[in-house]
Amino acid sequence: MQAIHQIGANNSGFDKFLTLRFYKTFVRPVFEYGLSIINTTKKTFKLLEKAQDNAIRKIFHGHATSSTQAIKHMNKIATMEERKMVLQAKNIYRTFQLPNTTLIYTMLRQVITTRDTHFKKLQKRNEIWQSLPLPPANSRTLPIFITEKLLREAINKYLKKNMIQKQCEQFYVGMCRSNIANDPIMYLPMHNFERSRIIRWRMGWLPGRPTTCKNCDTTLNNNTTRNHLTQCLKLHQILQVPIIVTSPIDYILNQLPTKQTSNRIKQNYFIQKWIQITKIFNKIETLCHTTEDEMNPDPEDISPLIHWLKPPTAN
Ligand SMILES: [Zn+2]
Repeated sequence: MQAIHQIGANNSGFDKFLTLRFYKTFVRPVFEYGLSIINTTKKTFKLLEKAQDNAIRKIFHGHATSSTQAIKHMNKIATMEERKMVLQAKNIYRTFQLPNTTLIYTMLRQVITTRDTHFKKLQKRNEIWQSLPLPPANSRTLPIFITEKLLREAINKYLKKNMIQKQCEQFYVGMCRSNIANDPIMYLPMHNFERSRIIRWRMGWLPGRPTTCKNCDTTLNNNTTRNHLTQCLKLHQILQVPIIVTSPIDYILNQLPTKQTSNRIKQNYFIQKWIQITKIFNKIETLCHTTEDEMNPDPEDISPLIHWLKPPTAN
């Protein structure tokens, strides 16, 4: 991690989406070494998860205890426990798919009918594998009829179930999109400062440490918490979002398209929302920073997202 951090995978280097791909390609496999075949203790998983969290905090320049749940959700980064479950299920599947001339295959029937073999324990403790239509536990039939499609569906079902649980239990994850995919705010074209503050908002780092709100009567001593700012800045009215929605900003961010559209109404709708969100974030940053100056970016400096949403027509 230190090596890729030095070549640019850091807060001021490559963009975050690319850096996380570096992490998943070069660093995470080191943490996962051997996970597909061993049964480890909960303590070991805690250490592995801590290592993963530290790597993510290094990329985002977060402090030692900052939450990484939302960023993992937005970038399809599974927990190490989930990675173990997926890797082991794939490994068990591959073992049963080996040609019948291989040594392992010839021993498999013996292995699955002998009590307490390591391979049997791996199968028994694997939630994904156990959710597949397997032969009865005491059967000598090998589950060679399990197809890659069935396995893929079981993996998706397991990850989806965990995602729903995380969205219920963790506030900031609950505010993100309800799917297992890279969140478009990670890769849609926009200024670095725009992406940075949306990510900080998603992770709960913005508004940051609450200070007295200067937007309303300061004698009331209202603090710049997320809930207060939502009410104080009248975000539901500005963004025209139903009052039942907890976080109007996240509600709009979750609607952003993943592909360009030629529909003019949609283009104009998202451009209008993006301009409003930009103004809201300027206001929030102004209120949360100690400086008295209002953040007023150069009006000529148009967000790349607006060009992307509505590309200039060719003459
Ligand atoms: Zn206020």
